[in-house]
Amino acid sequence: MICPNLKCRSVLSVPDHARGKKVRCKSCGMRIGVPMPSSNNPVEGEALEKEPQQAKSG
Ligand SMILES: [Zn+2]
Repeated sequence: MICPNLKCRSVLSVPDHARGKKVRCKSCGMRIGVPMPSSNNPVEGEALEKEPQQAKSG
């Protein structure tokens, strides 16, 4: 993840166990909340069944 501090923008390597916790940027010392891994991310590798769309005109 990247430090949200616009004056810093330092790339932070966040370990897996730090998910959902807060880490401190080594560069600027800002405390940053680490987002959880599965939230708004689209899940890849899952085959979705396609339903046949039937258009009715009436
Ligand atoms: Zn920073």
